[in-house]
Amino acid sequence: MPLFKSPEQLMDLGQDQFLRGDFSAARGRFQEAARKFAETGNAQGAQIAQAYASLASLGVSDPGPEQYASAAQSLAPLGGLSMKLGPTQVPASSLAQETRILYETKTLLSVRPGSPQQYAEMAQRFQALSLEYRQLGSQNLLLPELFHRSSVSPVVMAPYMAAMAEEAMGEAVVLDHPQEAAEHNQNARNWWTQANELGKAQEAAARAQLYGRSARCWICGREVTGEGVQFVTRPAAIGPWTNAGTGGGMGSADPSRSVLYTCKGCASLIDAVADRYAQERAHEVEVKLEAEIEQLRRQVRPLSP
Ligand SMILES: [Zn+2]
Repeated sequence: MPLFKSPEQLMDLGQDQFLRGDFSAARGRFQEAARKFAETGNAQGAQIAQAYASLASLGVSDPGPEQYASAAQSLAPLGGLSMKLGPTQVPASSLAQETRILYETKTLLSVRPGSPQQYAEMAQRFQALSLEYRQLGSQNLLLPELFHRSSVSPVVMAPYMAAMAEEAMGEAVVLDHPQEAAEHNQNARNWWTQANELGKAQEAAARAQLYGRSARCWICGREVTGEGVQFVTRPAAIGPWTNAGTGGGMGSADPSRSVLYTCKGCASLIDAVADRYAQERAHEVEVKLEAEIEQLRRQVRPLSP
């Protein structure tokens, strides 16, 4: 073999290494080929070689969102061109679609929203992503299988993303409309069940129940919705007096848990007062303890040499 290889020879070498699963070496060959194609003015050859290089980098260690983004970007202009991925041939357009979907999945699952507005935006993106998975049909995604021997099924991912969307929608509205948030979590429960995520389904159902609960504040009498949202529970002495005078309708106490319901405003007042008493008490104990220690010191002083 000649010392200097042509870009076509480098592409063949890259394909061999790709087929053997040595994606790191393959990426190097494809990058070299891209450079040589560019030097000889073969822009299309360079573009194709670059697309192969970016695909090969998805097989190297654990690729992050940016690797998927750059693969999607370099595949997009190639249209329906047939790409050789080891033993299979796939149109560049479907690889572009798959890398774009995987990019969005990786990105979205690492987002940590902080405001209702951000949750609402996130919900929209999850919904769009769920639709994209649905459009892929029932065949497992090719790239995770090829590179990481992991099966990603659109049949599972579509309801998974729909569940995430519903939960995000719930978080977006929970403070103002806990009842709506309860409904979103109920929907999420159904999607989680479809995605066969039974633990998550249970969690969503539990949230739906909490958010959907209403009570009348024991202290101020305000009607509030969403346990843990607009109202909280406080341990209390429960007896016949808890039911006397409250009449029917919305409860203010749960005897089975020995708690009273208080709106968050009233609870924060109680907590603030309780905190102050606790601090005062702690300080008193500290002062008393110091005095005792001092007394003890005085007592033992005559004993020291
Ligand atoms: Zn209250």
